[in-house]
Amino acid sequence: MSGLNKIYVVGIGPGAYEQMTVAAADILRKCEVIVGYTVYVDLLREHFTDKAFLTTAMRQETERCRMAFEEAQKGKLTAVVCSGDAGIYGMAGLMLELSEVYPETQIEVVPGVTAALGGGAVLGAPLGHDCAFISLSDLLTPWEIIEKRLLSAAEADFAVCLYNPSSRKRKDYLQKACQVMLKAKSPDTVCGLVKNIARSGEEMKVLTLRELADTPADMFVTVFIGNSDTKVIRGRMVTPRGYRAVLTE
Ligand code: SAH
Repeated sequence: MSGLNKIYVVGIGPGAYEQMTVAAADILRKCEVIVGYTVYVDLLREHFTDKAFLTTAMRQETERCRMAFEEAQKGKLTAVVCSGDAGIYGMAGLMLELSEVYPETQIEVVPGVTAALGGGAVLGAPLGHDCAFISLSDLLTPWEIIEKRLLSAAEADFAVCLYNPSSRKRKDYLQKACQVMLKAKSPDTVCGLVKNIARSGEEMKVLTLRELADTPADMFVTVFIGNSDTKVIRGRMVTPRGYRAVLTE
């Protein structure tokens, strides 16, 4: 018992223990209770064997947060874990919103390597210039807003990283997103996909936007769509920052 009423909201990185930050691992080591979605907690069990693990299924985020506040109020040092970074489509925001009704509980957010960065490294350097992250999940955001953001990002020539490209009920969302972006982008735009980043079965593919529109994706995939300068260099996806242009000027 720490006696502290404190919760850490921890991003554990995309999968492999080695991609967790040293700070995140140190904090998990000192916590008594770890709360999270079953799949992420299973990635942690072997490295943190002496912890009490509390899990809930997907979409029970509010319930998961409440469990964490209850444990912290008992005086147990508690961590809520999210894959990647807890602030990117994760639970840091929800924990802070709920903390308004638990003012005596301290909250500390611990950053992690988000899928855009983990997957970006696998592909090469797809986000080397200004970029936008867009989630295709319409569970909490109306699809019309998602389409508007996709089109705006395409028109502004951002490199784009798409999270949640698909799920069982939304099989054709990636295809729909590509069709929106094709209104403002060349079909030859360089794109990339990474599946199971830093987990077993990691795979990457570099392809064009036209090809991406016909490529199935599932919820374990992160998608990258280049800007108009993005190119393929030795099989890797690179959005240049412009150094070469500067060098040859
Ligand atoms: N907080 C997480 C994102 C959660 S949203 C983060 O910062 O990474 C879930 C989506 O993230 C998935 O549908 C997928 O698009 C992406 N994602 C998360 N982990 C991934 C991994 N290991 N491999 C591929 N995609 C991943």
